[in-house]
Amino acid sequence: MTSRRDLGDRVAGGAVAAGGALLAAYLIWYVGGWGGETLRAYVTDGIYPPLALLFTVLAVRAVRTGADARTRAAWSFIALAFACQLVAHTSWFVEDAILHSTTYPSFADYWFLAFVPFMFVALLLLAGVRRTRRDKIKLALDALIVGASTFMVLWYLVLGPILVTDGAGLSEIVYSAALPVGDLLLVLALATVLLRRATAAGTPVRLLAAGVVTYVIADVYYGYIQLHEGFVGGTWPDLFWLLGCYLFTLAAYRQCRRAGDGDAAARHRRAVSTWLPYGAIALAYGLLGTLAREQGMYPFGGMIIGAVLLTGLVVARQMYALRENRDLAVTDPLTGLANRTLVGERLIQLSAQPLRAGRHAAVLIVDLDHFKRVNDTYGHDAGDAVLSGAAAALRSVIRAGDTAGRLGGDEFAVILQNLPDADTAARIAERLVEALRTPVIFGDRLLAVEASIGVAVRDERTVDGEELMRHADTAMYSAKRAGRGRYAVYQPELDSRARDAELRHAIDNGELVVFFQPAVELGGGRIEAVEALVRWNHPERGLLMPGDFIALAEETGAVVPLGERVLRDACREVVRWQSTVPGSEHVRLSVNLSPNQVLQPELVDTVSNILDETGFPAHRLILELTEGVMLEPDAAVVARLEKLRAMGISIAVDDFGTGYSALTYLRRLPVDILKIDRSFVTGIADDPEARTVAEAVVRLGMAFRMNVVAEGIETADQARGLAAMGCGFGQGFHFYRPMDGEAAAEALRTAYDFYGTGD
Ligand code: C2E
Ligand code: CA
Ligand code: CA
Repeated sequence: MTSRRDLGDRVAGGAVAAGGALLAAYLIWYVGGWGGETLRAYVTDGIYPPLALLFTVLAVRAVRTGADARTRAAWSFIALAFACQLVAHTSWFVEDAILHSTTYPSFADYWFLAFVPFMFVALLLLAGVRRTRRDKIKLALDALIVGASTFMVLWYLVLGPILVTDGAGLSEIVYSAALPVGDLLLVLALATVLLRRATAAGTPVRLLAAGVVTYVIADVYYGYIQLHEGFVGGTWPDLFWLLGCYLFTLAAYRQCRRAGDGDAAARHRRAVSTWLPYGAIALAYGLLGTLAREQGMYPFGGMIIGAVLLTGLVVARQMYALRENRDLAVTDPLTGLANRTLVGERLIQLSAQPLRAGRHAAVLIVDLDHFKRVNDTYGHDAGDAVLSGAAAALRSVIRAGDTAGRLGGDEFAVILQNLPDADTAARIAERLVEALRTPVIFGDRLLAVEASIGVAVRDERTVDGEELMRHADTAMYSAKRAGRGRYAVYQPELDSRARDAELRHAIDNGELVVFFQPAVELGGGRIEAVEALVRWNHPERGLLMPGDFIALAEETGAVVPLGERVLRDACREVVRWQSTVPGSEHVRLSVNLSPNQVLQPELVDTVSNILDETGFPAHRLILELTEGVMLEPDAAVVARLEKLRAMGISIAVDDFGTGYSALTYLRRLPVDILKIDRSFVTGIADDPEARTVAEAVVRLGMAFRMNVVAEGIETADQARGLAAMGCGFGQGFHFYRPMDGEAAAEALRTAYDFYGTGD
């Protein structure tokens, strides 16, 4: 099948090339002026039939390749129109070259005329469907403008003279008038095709259109000559007709090959559709102007000048209104920035631009931090003021040629162009962060918001504007995660889906490493427990801290297998120490559980399996939960924690005192240990308020008979202060930093040598 098709294509290609060569040879011969008049007519007339046969056959072939029913129907009509041409040219060859008949209109002329209705229908079919009523009206108006000026030209050249010709027979007059009317129809249909923007029709239609234009020119020329001195075969109109025929051939050939380059065609048509009506008006006035000069400037000259001026003014007014409409349609009313539509258009333009060194582009997404808070606290007018202020800040930083737009809500986009290098985008983002920090005056208030900005720089890997937007968005979220009020530049690593896959792979691949940080008894310095803290030994980026990946793992759920892995590895490691570090059989192990893990119904089974598997005793295991989980516990979670506790496992509340201040839950929940967050510990020596909180927490812990662990102790002062308050245990760089298993075992050994094992 395919090979037969290929063969057909090759034959067709050969024939088209041969036709082109023949035509070129003919043109050289014609321009060279060789041969007498008879030979000329003979040769000229003889070229048409094979050419017409070729384009007719190609058009029949092309019918099959139409993408949809409408295109196939259009090409069926084109094939019919071409068949009329074939009959016409063949009979003309017989009449003119062989019989030397001079009847006008000739038999062939009727077939030439028959070509018109078929082609008319075909062109209208190709023009496709207009979607909206407004589109239809606009199209009709534009096509009529072109039609009206064409009518003026035809009237002046052909139709008018026919009416005043003496001694012409009826059929002669009818035919002479029918030909330009037919041409007028073709021009109208053609204008519709050219003005239409909706569907991309591609190269074949453009070639066909060019062919029809050439044909119409030849027809008018022919009609004109016929009226004045009488047409002889092998003269100028023939050159146009031949050219038209070849364009038809090419059109049908391209359609067979289905090599339509839709995008280019769409762009081309857009250009045509804007100038075509104006070009037609200019043509009509040009004609009038010439006439006025021929007939004397009075009375018509001044009137024509006035009419030209009036038309020009109306056109200018219309263009102005169009621009105003467009400006309204693409501006965000609140901020005056571009709206989402315009940003989208600019992104499409950006996608089409070639990449050039030294002229970089970048897309920034700007999202205000805690904007909702402003809206909720001070009302929508305050929110609007903040948005306008943000828009002003954006405007103050970007340059002409860049685009700043509001995507909706408190989200903005900036498209930067012509950057000298990729780093400039980051510098501009930095300036934007600063500019957006400027508070907005609202009544007697100063409203301060910050923004998080994501930057995506255009390069070989990412050319497409929409994709840049997505990347900028990803980067923006990473800026938010990193603490807001800052910018982040997109890197492939940021893509959460890719990163999630990478992380899951790392979990399976053993790239996660467990570090241990000892927690000591504040009174005696004895190591009471070690906390397992995960690290990712990334093959390219080195040792990554939990801050780099836990939040994402939490989002995607990868934290569940991650936590399981950490628990297993940590248990195994600590069990191993029993044989190498005497006394370590007393040390407890604290492992962090993410909220996501606590929600898993399988949690209890997983933990108990790991304990069985590793031989780690339950009573030495502590599971650390964050306050968030504890604040709104559902019954299933509480039941799960109770079960763990029943196994002998202790439950600790991590980061205690941050975020939520409801202490009442402690009474209701199965909790054994409180870990005071580092933020209170840091200020303990010199900040009375922090000291008060720490004291309160310690006392609270004692009241509930819980163990209290202070986190993040960095100085001896802090350690002493906490001990004085009655805090039992401490953890922090002052005692030990987190370290790998081997170093932790060594630290234990040293500590036991020094303090003893506590037995
Ligand atoms: P966290 O549970 O509050 O762990 C204590 C964090 O404070 C650790 O950070 C530790 O290195 C750090 N730290 C300890 N002492 C000091 C000190 O004296 N000064 C300062 N500035 N920092 C100190 P790290 O290892 O980066 O872990 C950060 C957080 O990541 C942990 O906070 C925990 O919430 C989470 N995380 C760590 N490992 C795991 C894990 O295996 N599973 C889960 N779900 N989360 C984990
Ligand atoms: Ca912890
Ligand atoms: Ca903590």
